[in-house]
Amino acid sequence: MKISIKIGADEKKFIDRVSELSGKNVYSCYQCGRCSAGCPFAFDMDILPNQIIRLVQMGLAEEALSCEAINVCASCFTCQSRCPKGIDIASVAEALRQLRDPQEKDFFGPDDVPRELADELPQQALVALFRKLSK
Ligand code: SF4
Ligand code: SF4
Repeated sequence: MKISIKIGADEKKFIDRVSELSGKNVYSCYQCGRCSAGCPFAFDMDILPNQIIRLVQMGLAEEALSCEAINVCASCFTCQSRCPKGIDIASVAEALRQLRDPQEKDFFGPDDVPRELADELPQQALVALFRKLSK
């Protein structure tokens, strides 16, 4: 039995925009769940990483843009290393944050990092922060 789901023009526009910004083909995800099983921050997310992708695949912009999980994602790339399709959920989450906060503005930049903390914080944490709060 063939099941087809109709995606409207608005939904398609949203899906295409997320794909364009992230550089990822979200259609290729087949919901195996390997990303969520390995995500070290899934415990703190309101929806799982594979569910972020599912919302985008279905064009559910409001739900995807309002989920807390896109803020919690730490851009650690564990999901990408586990994904059989090479999908990088960090880039998808970043694209969703860009669509949610479209102002051409940096909310946080290198000059905002206190000197004493800059020497102590792991570089990965700083890069993740810049990616989340800078345009
Ligand atoms: S591991 Fe990849 S294919 Fe599997 S659910 Fe996650 S994003 Fe989709
Ligand atoms: S990049 Fe984000 S979604 Fe992927 S494993 Fe790391 S925290 Fe989880």
